[in-house]
Amino acid sequence: MIAERSNDARQRLEDEAQIAKTRLQVFWSENHQDYTSRALLQPYAEALRARKIDPDRLHSRGHCPFCGGAAWISSRKSTSDADGGFRYLGCSLCGLEWNYGRISCPACGEEDPHKLPIFRSDAHKTVRLETCETCRRYVKSIDLTLDARPIPPVDDLVSLSMDLWAVEEGYTRIEPGMAGI
Ligand SMILES: [Zn+2]
Ligand SMILES: [Zn+2]
Repeated sequence: MIAERSNDARQRLEDEAQIAKTRLQVFWSENHQDYTSRALLQPYAEALRARKIDPDRLHSRGHCPFCGGAAWISSRKSTSDADGGFRYLGCSLCGLEWNYGRISCPACGEEDPHKLPIFRSDAHKTVRLETCETCRRYVKSIDLTLDARPIPPVDDLVSLSMDLWAVEEGYTRIEPGMAGI
């Protein structure tokens, strides 16, 4: 999978300028999953956010309130007034983290807790997979309530085996992490 991604990126570098431009424009306006376009547009989206310039993109439910990007990660953080910790989603495009306290699937909006099973692994105690039986998507969640140290990108990489398990079970991650899964 990782090799495929880098081949894709290399191939994209050889695209005609016009084709390359069109692919980026399609990603920007339609927000479908396109790992390479996402990586290419990340610095642009981050710069817009730093300058508070509205990116004028589609804002679907469960997506980033600033740029409309899909969530690549979820995290739980403790706050002084909530023992369980608040749930945040991390934007795959502009990097914003936003509070998403409600129990619902960020991809399809499913709210029935029985259709939103959570999977854990003894090997990675701070990581869990929040899955959805309705759309078969999942988001990886990192628990930052017990230990302030884990940094989501690192936890994401070391728990790659959980993504491989999820793919085998027929789930698709809402947005891939840095390893391309
Ligand atoms: Zn964003
Ligand atoms: Zn769903």
